[in-house]
Amino acid sequence: MKYCPSCGTGIEPKTKKCPNCNAEIVDYEKLSREGLIFAIISIFAWIIPLFGLLTSIPGLINCSKVRKKEEYKKKGTIGFSISIITLALTIANIIIPAIKEISLIK
Ligand SMILES: [Zn+2]
Repeated sequence: MKYCPSCGTGIEPKTKKCPNCNAEIVDYEKLSREGLIFAIISIFAWIIPLFGLLTSIPGLINCSKVRKKEEYKKKGTIGFSISIITLALTIANIIIPAIKEISLIK
């Protein structure tokens, strides 16, 4: 049985909102798992800019949410750090060829 973090009412495992106080129930376990999966995929995906953005950004968002929760802080921070690096790599991978392109025109 899970409990609402805001009012303590017992809630069904898959409920997204508390039936008693209407507070949002965040599944940190799922969020941290997805965030880490996105982060790990982005390690390989940044080579292709579109895939890099599609994996590093969700990884970053999920992991930054998860980091607020004490028991998931470690997982969240790992995923967050990986995603920041891969996002930077993705952006570099977009910008550097663009700069080369511009300097070739000149
Ligand atoms: Zn509640």
